[in-house]
Amino acid sequence: MLPAQERSVMLMKKIAKGTHRNVNYVSRLFQPQNVVPKDGIVKREDSLSKSQKLMHDLGVIRQASPGAFHLLPLGERSLQKLIRIVDDEMCKINAQKLLLPLLTSGELWKSTGRWEDIGEELFTLKDRHDRELVLSPTHEEAVTELMASIPQLSYRQLPLLLYQVTSKFRDEMRPRFGLLRGREFIMKDLYTFDTSAEAASETYKAVSKAYDNIFRRIGIQYFKVSAVTGVMGGSVSHEYHFPAAVGEAKLLICESCGYGTSLESCVPSECPECGHGFLKCCPGIEVGHTFLLGTKYSVPLKARFTTVEGKSDFLQMGSYGLGMTRILAAGVEVLSLPDEMRWPIALAPFTVCIVPPKEGSKESAVAHLAEELYHRMNSIDSFRNDLIIDNRCNMTIGKRLFEAQRTGYPFIVVIGRKALQPVPEFEVHHILMDKKASFNETALIEYLKEQLNK
Ligand SMILES: [Zn+2]
Repeated sequence: MLPAQERSVMLMKKIAKGTHRNVNYVSRLFQPQNVVPKDGIVKREDSLSKSQKLMHDLGVIRQASPGAFHLLPLGERSLQKLIRIVDDEMCKINAQKLLLPLLTSGELWKSTGRWEDIGEELFTLKDRHDRELVLSPTHEEAVTELMASIPQLSYRQLPLLLYQVTSKFRDEMRPRFGLLRGREFIMKDLYTFDTSAEAASETYKAVSKAYDNIFRRIGIQYFKVSAVTGVMGGSVSHEYHFPAAVGEAKLLICESCGYGTSLESCVPSECPECGHGFLKCCPGIEVGHTFLLGTKYSVPLKARFTTVEGKSDFLQMGSYGLGMTRILAAGVEVLSLPDEMRWPIALAPFTVCIVPPKEGSKESAVAHLAEELYHRMNSIDSFRNDLIIDNRCNMTIGKRLFEAQRTGYPFIVVIGRKALQPVPEFEVHHILMDKKASFNETALIEYLKEQLNK
């Protein structure tokens, strides 16, 4: 064997073993897949949503108990990407992140009447002293009590915007569709405190704009509709929905101006907003909800501040939720094909999957290009730690390409025949656009950067 050939064989073996600690390898990924035998009978198909089935079968989630799921590494990576988008937009409106306890006292819920209002969906338990506790489904009570406990809160400190990203609990009668309707799920909840109803309205507008930015960055078409305030109380409320057949919310959307409303009864009618459009029924998955609360919580919990005149007044509040794990599942639900999981590019667990040549193939002479490309891209901010190499080089390129596509990596780069050219070229597959093209290394990186900035 020639020395060069020997080197490439050595390198091939190293890649296949996945020995570099600072590289993400498919062979090392904890992605337990559910393999259904070809002639196996699948009974559960119709009771599961598409996203639940795909996320389970492709190792993104695993059910721990009814309505509770393990979020495996691919799912957790996606969640962290969503959290980064949310944190970024919250920072722009000066919202501050904190963490409230998940366990809240039953007394607190009784003082606002929601112990009864929410009823059996409230997850309750008793401690050893027989005191009632709640595994919180939301934190209006807790955060308002926190504010009430601050001595001498001044108008100078307002508006105050506080948010968290934590687990929430709801004792669902029928948890289903995986992360779409669980008993334990992750939410981002923001609470705002203002000096007057007018100021609270201004804050509501600012947060609504931030929510629009978040959904625009996620990149899935969404509907924002006016909503009833329900058990939260308050005066103004909007919901954010992804349109999907599996959605449990019924929306009326104007075909002409995009105005939307969520109603109990879904009766098509003329649009009250533009006057000429027609309101059409469509199912949606609720992924966000905003409320202007007024003093619904600050009065019973005595959360006050000192006004300019030195008097004491009740805080004007707002509450803004985003179903984080639900957004992940809903995104997959909207974009996926029946047998192929697809993610919004902004939330894909890894944006780029690199597929090196098969062991023993002619192309294996240029296997080193895979790790070189990986390291070069990994040194660029927009790709850092967002790449993975499918180093299972005993498998054909075709088989690994198929699997990468099924897992939903938005861009798959294949080190194939064209990589043997004097100026090596890589084949890149843009999965959501169903397109492929070949580029040299520099042009490839430029192309991918461009796609990410779209
Ligand atoms: Zn209209």
